[in-house]
Amino acid sequence: MLVKTFSVFSKNFIKYVPVRRLSSVPTFAKDYLQVKRGPYKTLDEQDVRFFRTLLEENSLIEDRCDLEKYNVDFLKHLRGCSPLVLRPRTVEQMSKILSYCNNNLLAVCPQGGNTGVCGGATPVFDEIIVSTEWLNSVIHLDETSGVLVCEAGCVLENLHNYLNDYDLMMPIDLGAKGSCQIGGNTSTNAGGIRLYRYGNLHGNILGLEAVKADGEIIDCMNTLKKDNTGFHLKHIFIGSEGCLGIVTKVAIQCHPKPKSIQLAFLGAQNFTKALKAFKTAKQELGEIISAVEVMDHETIKFMWEHTDTTSPIGDYPIYLIIETSGSNEEHDQDKLNKYFQKCMDKHFVLNGVVTSSPSKSEQIWGLRERVAENFYKDGYVFAYDISLPLENYYDIVTEMKEYLGEKSHRVFGFGHLGDGNLHIQISVQKFSTDIMNYIEQHLYKRVNELNGSISAEHGIGFLKKQYLPLVKSEANMNLMRSLKRVMDPNGILNPYKVV
Ligand SMILES: Cc1cc2nc3c(=O)[nH]c(=O)nc-3n(C[C@H](O)[C@H](O)[C@H](O)COP(=O)(O)OP(=O)(O)OC[C@H]3O[C@@H](n4cnc5c(N)ncnc54)[C@H](O)[C@@H]3O)c2cc1C
Repeated sequence: MLVKTFSVFSKNFIKYVPVRRLSSVPTFAKDYLQVKRGPYKTLDEQDVRFFRTLLEENSLIEDRCDLEKYNVDFLKHLRGCSPLVLRPRTVEQMSKILSYCNNNLLAVCPQGGNTGVCGGATPVFDEIIVSTEWLNSVIHLDETSGVLVCEAGCVLENLHNYLNDYDLMMPIDLGAKGSCQIGGNTSTNAGGIRLYRYGNLHGNILGLEAVKADGEIIDCMNTLKKDNTGFHLKHIFIGSEGCLGIVTKVAIQCHPKPKSIQLAFLGAQNFTKALKAFKTAKQELGEIISAVEVMDHETIKFMWEHTDTTSPIGDYPIYLIIETSGSNEEHDQDKLNKYFQKCMDKHFVLNGVVTSSPSKSEQIWGLRERVAENFYKDGYVFAYDISLPLENYYDIVTEMKEYLGEKSHRVFGFGHLGDGNLHIQISVQKFSTDIMNYIEQHLYKRVNELNGSISAEHGIGFLKKQYLPLVKSEANMNLMRSLKRVMDPNGILNPYKVV
């Protein structure tokens, strides 16, 4: 019989020597990749007057200090120079803003919660930032079908909280849920920790409304599960990172909140063993698995050095988080305990804890989900989000460590193992274009050789744009460019990004 234990998270568990705090200063986006400003008009007083007549006074932000949080990206890597943020409250206002910008050749940077990590939401030069933060109403919930209709600026966590009262949940969950918006999630086709169970947003978004660059409103607000009428236009906007239109509303399929959630935090001797534990989980836990995450030892060390948390089970080279969601606590607990025992017997894992306590689960998830928000404490962190076939999944971390040697301060990996999605992080003392090119040219070449993806869930944005042709054929690139020309002939929407 298994004993369920849970050690208190304590820094005494692992003795590391804390590193020196390093700093990270945002670079001007335009200098980062040395791009040239496009032939756009520079905003003048007459333009601002127009926007003032269209929107309420406090919908415009012009003050330099107030603009800062919109001009700098979440990771504090990039800084834009936008002189104006516009916050429309209705789709009609959004439409008039874009129509005016299109007619006057004013470039626009759509922005949601500004948690994107590849520079898509940061202006590169002086693009007007059009924020959806005030388009934040829930419009309708059908409690029986679970279809939620809401505006694009609703913060993901607020939607989770709203649905909680109806015993429902969003199909998507991610570490940035307190700030990211459903419109931003849609536009990046965000993945997150429960994609393994509920699938991606192309499947869960039933309908949406978006505004094209010329201000035309495209209504694809379907709330049906099945609708094969004409081309499926909503998919053009899902994952197009604000380059083809601004999403203003979505209809999303929500799911019943599970009655029983169990979590296992497991330590393995190496990645091969962890992979065996994952395979066993699929066989033994089947339909109740809702998340499968991995973290390496260096990630835990990073968290220990920069936060007050560490592993609850001590020191192991690789850690797995396996979550189950079901409807019968006793059944799910029994299944997870038996699974854990099997993995221990076969030496796939060396130690672990199993818990159904919400507060303990939250602590474990905190270890995994709070990594990104602490990056800035580790110098300059190059954050990569790749997909790889599982057989090669972790080798790339070892390979990059060897390749970089003394050039890097730390190389670590964690991610959504269940989806073959690895976040590989490389911290260096200071940003330089030379080190960036040295890392990226090798990493992306290897990912491509291994039939992986250079962006599993974060998108291309500004930072990965130059590598897109490496992984897409000329025919694919041409089709994307043609689509962009049709949807946004003047190229005002999120210029310098994606294509
Ligand atoms: C701590 C942390 C954890 C994260 N975890 C995950 C994760 O697990 N999975 C994952 O996929 N991502 C993750 N991310 C990345 C990020 O949170 C997602 O990409 C998220 O979907 C971005 O939403 P946002 O509202 O912040 O969008 P923003 O960052 O504001 O914008 C992202 C892109 O979408 C465009 N955009 C935003 N809103 C709209 C709109 N309404 N219409 C058209 N275009 C728009 C922007 O121009 C930009 O190109 C994480 C980020 C952080 C900081």
